[in-house]
Amino acid sequence: MTTVAKRTIPEMRGAGVPDEAPKLQVFTDRHLDKIEPLQRLGEQMLFEMKVVASVLPFRVNNYVIENLIDWERAPDDPIFSLTFPQRGMLDPEMYEQMAELHRREAPKEEITALAWKLRHQLNPHPAGQMEMNLPEVNGETVEGVQHKYRETALFFPSQGQTCHSYCTFCFRWAQFIGDKDLKIASKEAGQLLDYLAAHPHLSDLLMTGGDPMVMKTKHLAPYLEGLLDERLDHVQTVRIGTKALSFWPYRFVTDKDADELLGLFERLVESGKHVAVMAHINHYQEMENPIFREAVKRIRATGAEIRTQSPLIKHINDSGYAWARMWREQVRLGMIPYYMFVERDTGAKYRFEVPLAEAYDIYREAMKQVSGLARTARGPSMSAGPGKVEIQGVAEIKGEKVFVLRFIQGRNPDWVQRPFFAQYDTEATWLDELKPAFGEKAFFFEEEYVAMQSDHGLKVIDAAEVE
Ligand SMILES: *Cc1c(COP(=O)(O)O)cnc(C)c1O
Ligand code: SF4
Repeated sequence: MTTVAKRTIPEMRGAGVPDEAPKLQVFTDRHLDKIEPLQRLGEQMLFEMKVVASVLPFRVNNYVIENLIDWERAPDDPIFSLTFPQRGMLDPEMYEQMAELHRREAPKEEITALAWKLRHQLNPHPAGQMEMNLPEVNGETVEGVQHKYRETALFFPSQGQTCHSYCTFCFRWAQFIGDKDLKIASKEAGQLLDYLAAHPHLSDLLMTGGDPMVMKTKHLAPYLEGLLDERLDHVQTVRIGTKALSFWPYRFVTDKDADELLGLFERLVESGKHVAVMAHINHYQEMENPIFREAVKRIRATGAEIRTQSPLIKHINDSGYAWARMWREQVRLGMIPYYMFVERDTGAKYRFEVPLAEAYDIYREAMKQVSGLARTARGPSMSAGPGKVEIQGVAEIKGEKVFVLRFIQGRNPDWVQRPFFAQYDTEATWLDELKPAFGEKAFFFEEEYVAMQSDHGLKVIDAAEVE
């Protein structure tokens, strides 16, 4: 695991900076036969992909295919694992049921019916999901807003509920397969801005999706320009969660409305706000193209910061080396490592999850290899119902081996930073599998959390947490 990087400056490869935006081409499960390099992987693999893609969402674009995947290494290449369906994403029994239908070329309706049945077994409502009130303003429900932590509102613009490519591990998978009930989306900017104005303790707005950077600038403008209004002076920080930087960097460089977008960032910065692009980057291989670096440079030139986050995912980035190399490279490019998440217990976790004990080892292994400037990344962190819980360490206290945990964000702000302890467990992959240490019956927050759930239980909101 402790391999030392041979070169500190990775070679640049792939896409340079074109004069004009290349045309975006998108491939889905219907186009598997049209992706040329895929055909080399053989009939059997193509079949397996079709089977998996009939249950879980699949979408990939020409930039990812041509510039991020190292096809020499496929199917083991990390970006291939990040974007293409793989047999192991379904448990063997589910896989077999679906494969059976494809083998006998069953009618489409039959495939769709089984797909829905299987999806519902894949925990589309990830664990610890919270029942809470939808925020209200002027007596109306504010659609597309989630307000879980006192100082931060999450906003899901309705046109930003898709992505340039889909990540195979994504906990938002249920939103991408047309299950309207699972979608959180907004209708209009007015309600959002009114809600923010009515909550003076809200200092942070976090725009998320899907990926809000799939939106045209003209659709983003009403939200971002709206923040310039005096009555929203208390909203000091605007974060935009996106994977466009690595899946479609042209968004910030050559797309027709790229300059206009950067102009918006600039105006927000000039008005005194902190603008942060929260870049989802899962692997250093996503950062090697000149076009990526150009996008980073242009965003930073507006005065906006770029912070980075990713879950720890088996087969994609499950080594201390991969994280250390990624974080070092991010720091060098002027990006700030922010979160390492634990993969959620939903969707294709069967292939991608990493036990908490191992996640902590990988985090520490990575931390040991970087300087203080890259040690800004917090984690491994679980976005669970009660809050974001970080594994701080493993210790032995009075003869008992324990996980030392803390809230880095809590539904009750008073929980934040309080250390608590769970029995060490090499297999647990999520908070709800952990047991309190030292013979205690429950974790300190549990009673209060249960009470909160019954207080709030008006409407269930799914896929609530940010990644
Ligand atoms: C992570 C998260 C935030 C932001 O928390 P920070 O500690 O400010 O990064 C806000 N809302 C939700 C629901 C989150 O999961
Ligand atoms: S991880 Fe982010 S970019 Fe990837 S599919 Fe999920 S929401 Fe989209």
